[in-house]
Amino acid sequence: MAEKIVMNAGGALEVPDDPIVPYIEGDGIGVDIWPAAQHVLDAAAARYDKHVSWQEVLAGEKAFRETGSWLPDETIAAFREYLIGIKGPLTTPVGGGFRSLNVAVRQILDLYVCLRPVRWFAGVPSPVRHPEKVDMVIFRENTEDVYAGFELAAGTPEAKRLIDFLHDEHGWDIRADSAIGIKPISETGSKRLVRAAISYAVSHGRRSVTLVHKGNIQKFTEGGFRNWGYEVARDEFADVAVSWDECGGDPGDKILVKDAIADITLQQVLTRPDEFDVIATMNLNGDYLSDALAAQVGGIGIAPGANINYVTGHGVFEATHGTAPKYAGQDKVNPGSLLLSGVLMFEHLGWAEPAADIVRALEATIADKIVTYDFARLMDGAREVRCSEFADAIVERL
Ligand code: NAP
Repeated sequence: MAEKIVMNAGGALEVPDDPIVPYIEGDGIGVDIWPAAQHVLDAAAARYDKHVSWQEVLAGEKAFRETGSWLPDETIAAFREYLIGIKGPLTTPVGGGFRSLNVAVRQILDLYVCLRPVRWFAGVPSPVRHPEKVDMVIFRENTEDVYAGFELAAGTPEAKRLIDFLHDEHGWDIRADSAIGIKPISETGSKRLVRAAISYAVSHGRRSVTLVHKGNIQKFTEGGFRNWGYEVARDEFADVAVSWDECGGDPGDKILVKDAIADITLQQVLTRPDEFDVIATMNLNGDYLSDALAAQVGGIGIAPGANINYVTGHGVFEATHGTAPKYAGQDKVNPGSLLLSGVLMFEHLGWAEPAADIVRALEATIADKIVTYDFARLMDGAREVRCSEFADAIVERL
């Protein structure tokens, strides 16, 4: 019988064998990739006598067509009630009152971690020589930084008033024709993000957590993040983690907590990828890093993602690409990003076996050179198949 996933008093998810999971199909290619991903997820779960009771909820164009609302209250209510959900990509409505539906969902549910594991899947065409050395998990802060939406357009009376105020109060000279943005980085936001990253490193047997920041320039915001991150390591994880300063780079069997400047990090993830494991960083750095790293493993089309609040237990797993409208309904694109987000969801729910089976079957399919158009154009001798046929091929190899 279908049951709810709940969070117990100890803060752990209790997952029945037949959980109710709300899903948003997604706009554009959502009609192609959702059925393909669901087919594989269901087949893998069934091998372990598990079954997901998927419950469709609406958002985006489909929601607007059927209800007149881009993000109906019922959708948020379902994510609240059932804790864990999954979504395809959504069109950003023009003039719909939202900056982005994705951002709205994250903000309403306070999903403060954007989780992006980045690893190479054998056979995937990559622009670098050793993509197998990339195995990182990015914890990107999801609620603060320049993404908080506090901006004033150049030339407006509001911008002028703020510029005058900053001049009078702080003696700051800001050009009169400047646009102004505010970058809030809080102790609360930084600490809960780093806490989640170190906890993940502990529970997943990872070796290090790198705090990525521009604290050399932005001393109080990005530098604050770094300092608060080290405080969390010292005050809350001293039994399992140690900072670089405290151990001189030799953590023994503890997790090493270190930090790196963002620009150098972007070089070193390319030149020395095996030195990075879990990465904890703020919103903007995390945005750049996750896309750069996904490209490094050839995974732009198959990179998975999740937005999680580890305190309330809420999590929304999602494809990281957009709606690719030019391919919508053609049964053509790669369902890998949504499928691997489902794999990430299974792992999060403790369903490690079906998750591992899907990864193995996906690798076997790519090794057999059965791929969608995006990989086919980068591989020699590949057999290009449709989105649904790719899913069928994975299921055959489970
Ligand atoms: P996009 O939809 O990600 O598409 C850009 C290109 O990426 C596609 O033309 C295609 O490349 C490739 N691509 C994307 N998904 C693919 C897949 N599953 N398989 C293979 N290739 C794939 O980006 P966009 O065109 O900039 O954005 C379109 C809409 O999506 C916008 O409304 C945007 O707001 C929205 N969006 C939503 C999300 C989200 O919901 N999370 C994220 C980003 C954007 P080729 O042309 O080379 O084949």
